[in-house]
Amino acid sequence: MERNLEKELFNTKKSGWLETSDEKFQKIFDFCDGYIEFLNRSKTEREFAANARELAEANGFEDVNKKERLKTGDKVYFVNREKSIYLAVIGEQKMENGVHIIGAHIDSPRLDLKPNPLYEDGELAYFNTHYYGGIKKYQWTTIPLSIHGVIVKANGEKITINIGEDEKDPIFTITDLLPHLAKDQEGKKLRDAIEGENLDLLIGSIPIMADDAKSKVKLNILKILNEKYGITEADFMSSELELVPAFKARSLGFDYGMIAAYGQDDKVCSYTALKALMEIQRPQKTAICILSDKEEIGSMGNTGMESHVFDYFMSELLNKTGENRVNLLEKVFCYSKMLSSDVDAGFDPLYASVSDKANSGFMSKGITLNKYTGARGKSGASDANAEYVAWVRNLFETNNIKYQISELGKVDVGGGGTIAYILANKGVDVIDCGVPVLSMHAPYEVTSKFDVYEAYRAYKAFWNKD
Ligand code: MN
Ligand code: MN
Repeated sequence: MERNLEKELFNTKKSGWLETSDEKFQKIFDFCDGYIEFLNRSKTEREFAANARELAEANGFEDVNKKERLKTGDKVYFVNREKSIYLAVIGEQKMENGVHIIGAHIDSPRLDLKPNPLYEDGELAYFNTHYYGGIKKYQWTTIPLSIHGVIVKANGEKITINIGEDEKDPIFTITDLLPHLAKDQEGKKLRDAIEGENLDLLIGSIPIMADDAKSKVKLNILKILNEKYGITEADFMSSELELVPAFKARSLGFDYGMIAAYGQDDKVCSYTALKALMEIQRPQKTAICILSDKEEIGSMGNTGMESHVFDYFMSELLNKTGENRVNLLEKVFCYSKMLSSDVDAGFDPLYASVSDKANSGFMSKGITLNKYTGARGKSGASDANAEYVAWVRNLFETNNIKYQISELGKVDVGGGGTIAYILANKGVDVIDCGVPVLSMHAPYEVTSKFDVYEAYRAYKAFWNKD
């Protein structure tokens, strides 16, 4: 028989849809319907964490703080200040042999309200904002925005806010200059055309009926907020209110093959990991899922991956399985494996010049590995060891999971990072591994349904591997 050298020797990847059976096709679409539904009620890290906890509890997970002892097969979680959540399924083997960690993040770029946000100008009321994460500022004007978050009064009473999602709710927006008067603005660099200090949210226009009041529109807004939520202007000081796009996650394309939604970085990897974990029963290695906060601003703080709260969770697992001894946690990390599941820049034909085509993640070609991230000579990168990359390849190939490998853009064009290095610094073998996304960090990000489902399959295979 004649050898097909091309097929044998080239590393060529075709669209995953070409290898999709009718049965799998249906599974992909059903899975993504669930993802779209979950996204629409999980736009912020607090909402995602709450919904993740609810899903976990419905699948037999319990708060680790309520368990005295842990044994094989037990399922537990720990919610860190309502903004991140760690989950575990205790394995057959001792944790000393290493655990299998998947870590994603549930925060996404957005606009936050300033601590003193409310003002009136030109008979209109506004909220002043400070953007969160890497955004292109012009993308956040003239789109419908909703307000999500909490206001905590000085007496500790917490008010949850979610306005702009329900069809009956009002929405909010940030205005932009009309083209007729934008000659100067249009001559500016894209990054300077909209100033951060001008990303102010338009929230009202009707003045209060009181002759002697100053700032009548502002006062009317405060009256409405006081009646609805029982707050005064001072209560904004102890609030966390986030502006996110008010539009819904939807199927994209005549073929319904893609998903357009806000916050898919990195809720796509968070959701697929969470769903995979729900199906893990008595794994060999303890399965750990991290859904982290603050990745978009550097993972700092007590809800970010840099915090020691995750180590505390791991120590509690060791304590409650009765396995713990002095310094054991460090050994556990050194023998553990991790998929840092974060999105990758999908190859965009409209902006092909920023990518090296042979080292890009393509839509619908499966989950994408990033051996390293970083920028300018791999600076700051967590570079996965070749031995570990081989282990992951073997895992995916034996489970028939479609995967590709890429870099984040051409050399010296830019760069980025994830939580990978934080766990790698503890001694864990880590590789970045996630779903390719178009328009990353934009109010509407695009993924392929094929890749979403493949990520879910990949994460399940990883946790089930001994
Ligand atoms: Mn990310
Ligand atoms: Mn990001």
